[in-house]
Amino acid sequence: MSLVDREQMQGLENIREFLKIRTSYDVLPLSFRLIVLDTDLLIRKSLAILIQNGIVSAPLWDSHKSAFAGLLTSTDYINVVQYYCQYPDRLGDIDQFRLSGLREIEKAIGVQPLETISVHPMKPLYEACRTMLKTRARRIPLVDVDDETGREMVVSVITQYRILKFIAVNNEHNTVMLKKSVREIGLGTYTNLQTAGMGDSVLSAIHLMVEHNISAVPIVDANNHVLNVFEAVDVIPCIKGGVYEELQSSIGEALSKRAEDFPGIYTCSEDDRLDSIFDTVRKSRVHRLIVIDDDSRLRGMISLSDILMYVLLYGEENDAVSPDAV
Ligand code: ADP
Repeated sequence: MSLVDREQMQGLENIREFLKIRTSYDVLPLSFRLIVLDTDLLIRKSLAILIQNGIVSAPLWDSHKSAFAGLLTSTDYINVVQYYCQYPDRLGDIDQFRLSGLREIEKAIGVQPLETISVHPMKPLYEACRTMLKTRARRIPLVDVDDETGREMVVSVITQYRILKFIAVNNEHNTVMLKKSVREIGLGTYTNLQTAGMGDSVLSAIHLMVEHNISAVPIVDANNHVLNVFEAVDVIPCIKGGVYEELQSSIGEALSKRAEDFPGIYTCSEDDRLDSIFDTVRKSRVHRLIVIDDDSRLRGMISLSDILMYVLLYGEENDAVSPDAV
């Protein structure tokens, strides 16, 4: 093992130790608001609420059972779109669907229902990360039980983004030890990349995301130069008016509707080192990095799950950095 290897491994181990002594609760800001949606709410209305509040997901509450009922995310809306594609004549029904009907939609289009996983806020953050990697969840609700009533309480939701930010902000002395490059550690995906063009329809991008289980599609020109990225969350404004025909419109048009505070896309090169990636995570609202060459041509994609998986699992037993190894 070279010195760089040894230092890298030490940095990773330190970060893992840090995650073991911190809880999910520690990740939460001192004050925050939590918007919880009742499962009796119309799906159509839930879209308006998310947009109004500038959020892309919310925990669900079943007020009949007084229980936590899972997490509403952009995947649910993508499922509604899939349902519409399969049953276009049922548009009237879709308008009347409530959030409680999302499971029926999953069944009708034949997708596996997502596990209603949650973690206790006082458990080590390390456990929440492992659960995330195992289930491929991008966000996990923190659910506690009220001592007095014995009822479940949704405290908040933690995301891969928040966890990586928390690691980056609190571990600068450890992330500087991560001097190996993206290329050396094979971080991200470089084969079978799914892309689309500006003129392609929103619907075609959604189909790519569903088929390949990815949450973003880079938008490239004829020479593979990266122009933008279409993300699962970009679907939300596209269907907000219940006008599903708009899904036939181009990706270019849809991207022009992004909120003004859209943080932009982040790129890196295969020669960038992991410490510089953590610098970017520390300073910006990064949800993925697009790997490009010197000429801005697409080389690969690094998702937050790729980074989290490397940080948690590299060098562990089996040495296999894959979800099956979690
Ligand atoms: P996350 O799970 O962090 O939301 P994604 O769903 O985008 O991230 O990515 C899941 C996996 O697919 C990752 O290993 C990532 O490298 C890979 N990936 C992401 N986008 C693409 C794409 N457009 N084409 C092929 N693979 C991708």
